[in-house]
Amino acid sequence: MIEFRGVNKWFGDFHVLKEIDFAVGEGEVVVIIGPSGSGKSTLLRCINALETIDSGELIVDGIKVHDSKTNLNRVRTEIGFVFQQFNLYPHMTALENIILAPMKVKKVPREEAVRRATRLLERVGIPEQANKYPESLSGGQQQRVAIARGLAMEPKIMLFDEPTSALDPEMINEVLDVMVDLARGGMTMVVVTHEMGFARKVADRVVFMDEGRIIEVGSPEHFFRNPENERTRRFLSRIL
Ligand code: ADP
Ligand code: MG
Repeated sequence: MIEFRGVNKWFGDFHVLKEIDFAVGEGEVVVIIGPSGSGKSTLLRCINALETIDSGELIVDGIKVHDSKTNLNRVRTEIGFVFQQFNLYPHMTALENIILAPMKVKKVPREEAVRRATRLLERVGIPEQANKYPESLSGGQQQRVAIARGLAMEPKIMLFDEPTSALDPEMINEVLDVMVDLARGGMTMVVVTHEMGFARKVADRVVFMDEGRIIEVGSPEHFFRNPENERTRRFLSRIL
């Protein structure tokens, strides 16, 4: 579903992604961990072309993302992106946030879009919040609306960038539970998170990044039991 082939990226003369070679299969759940500034967000943002790359290739569902002939809108409709800061439209209700893209981009009729959005709100456990504005929802509820909004486009891939980092501790699990359901339902997911409990439950692989490089890849068990790289060990000792 996603393949990085020798990808490099610079911000000016700062080499932010270094020789990234990595592939994510259909239905696979990959968790990315690593220190702040190691390039995790940039790597995710390259997948749906929020960032350009400077060399190498990045292929998503058979489409070369960074080819000038590629229709980026097509790539982006296949990918849902959930950010740390929910990024809901503040002047729209939960339901309106969810139906917007399907109606605008996919020309789904309003009635059908509302029906689907209602089902999605049930799926993320907050059907009763449909007509509330983001400011009157808790952080956990807002993030669940953001996930429902991502799913509304029926993406093939969901990307999550530290989706629980901005949440109060008591709300982290309600969001992770939704993500666990999604993972178990077969969604292809790339998740930047330090929630190793989540990784342990559903990740097929964990990737450790440091200073723009993929340093180590393995199962969650591998990272818990015998991480090989010294930098990985040091990092894990800080987060576990
Ligand atoms: P992470 O998500 O692992 O914390 P990021 O991918 O956000 O790391 O950032 C990696 C590095 O690239 C950081 O040093 C950051 O300051 C830098 N960076 C990120 N975005 C930009 C940008 N638009 N312009 C210049 N430098 C950036
Ligand atoms: Mg980041």
